[in-house]
Amino acid sequence: MTKKRDSILHIGFDDTDSLSGSCTTHIATKIIHRISEEVEFLDYPRLIRNNPNVPWKTRGNGAIAFTLGLKNENIENVFSTASQIIEDLHQKDPNTNPGLVAVKNHIPNEIKQFSINALKDVISINKAKAIARKFCSYHFTIGNGRGLIGAIAAIGNNLNPEKEDFSYELLSYRSPEYIGKKRQVSSESVRKMDKQLSPHVFNNIDEESGKILITPAGKDPVLYGIRGETPEVLLEAFDLVHVSEPVESFCIFRTNQGTDQHFNYSDSMIRNFSVYKGEIEVIEKPRILLGGHTIFNASTVKDNKIIDVAAFEPSKKFREVVRKLLPGDRIMAYGGIKYKQEYQKFTIQLEKCEVVHISEQFKEESPFCPNCSKRMISAGKNKGYKCRKCGHKDRNITKLRVPIIRNLTRGLYIPPAQAQRHLVKPFRRYNLSKKDNVNFVENWYKILSKTQ
Ligand code: ATP
Repeated sequence: MTKKRDSILHIGFDDTDSLSGSCTTHIATKIIHRISEEVEFLDYPRLIRNNPNVPWKTRGNGAIAFTLGLKNENIENVFSTASQIIEDLHQKDPNTNPGLVAVKNHIPNEIKQFSINALKDVISINKAKAIARKFCSYHFTIGNGRGLIGAIAAIGNNLNPEKEDFSYELLSYRSPEYIGKKRQVSSESVRKMDKQLSPHVFNNIDEESGKILITPAGKDPVLYGIRGETPEVLLEAFDLVHVSEPVESFCIFRTNQGTDQHFNYSDSMIRNFSVYKGEIEVIEKPRILLGGHTIFNASTVKDNKIIDVAAFEPSKKFREVVRKLLPGDRIMAYGGIKYKQEYQKFTIQLEKCEVVHISEQFKEESPFCPNCSKRMISAGKNKGYKCRKCGHKDRNITKLRVPIIRNLTRGLYIPPAQAQRHLVKPFRRYNLSKKDNVNFVENWYKILSKTQ
């Protein structure tokens, strides 16, 4: 169904929801529904997760972009439809500051670079406003306009299949009268679906606790989200998951979830709220804090900066690995940086780690008797050792230095699915072959029960 087009229009938007309601992906489906007659979708709507460490995010710091083919005379109409829907449907909350931008045809390199920075650093609203004024054909904001940051970043992050890894998520939405009530999704069917479609779907279930992860807990309109490798497998999954409440609509998004994209562009510079990737050396035995968090002191290998490294309680068994670390061990640390005012220190909050060096550790033991081979005992301070069996005494014999067998293996460790951030690449995705194209399926978006 190719429509005649004169231009390509890239639309990005963000910051339309809060914990009390709404969801940027749901607003995306409303816009798709309204503009679909006028435009040709040249890509799936993209759900781009940006720096997960920004403190003002609602949940997973997600923003949306569309790449559309359309007639020039429709551009203004499409932009004003999108801005009107955002105006009407965004969550009216002082911390919700929507931003919407549009770029015609070619995406400038400045916007591409902005997207890379948005994955790993903190960007100011003023910087986003300057980019919007200079490079965007249209922009629209409500409140302080912070949403412009994610909106511009989503446009520039086009998940080029030749260069970037990507995955898909099928999000289904609830009928408005069900929002706020318990989600009626059969756990048994989710387990079956996961078993049947693995490894082409991921993070549906937490492997450690058995918990179902596809249903969010909040008051937002999402019924469930299934993550996977292809649109086809997600449509199969949609048929396999049983629900006992109406599904208003669903939409498949192309996304950087589960790809480690934020780590691919990050470095070992220590900056508050940024994404960190770098080798560190343990300098003290990890401590367990009240509540089960595990923390240790380390120094960065590149520039000997002293930092704290933390694995939080929700990371469950991952902490057991961290607790086995000893001074001299080295890990590649992947995580977010936070400055702790009270300790005047930076902490790396681990999202995953690779144990790259296990140091030799020794313990001291009493020596064996040179006459009868029995273990000796101390003969008193500075008096050497004596043997209880044969009575041999030796002033010069010293303690034995015995290597400790380390119950730790080199390799990659990732917290269980329920503690993983959206961007983190789960083990299940490691051995899949790389995708190099985007295959459009017919039913990538559907309204099932009419609600407007
Ligand atoms: P949800 O996942 O439910 O869609 P969210 O977690 O995306 O919600 P938002 O309400 O969109 O949270 O808030 C995130 C805010 O952070 C947005 O205003 C977005 O523009 C902004 N933002 C995104 N990336 C960065 C960044 N790198 N630096 C500064 N601000 C950012």
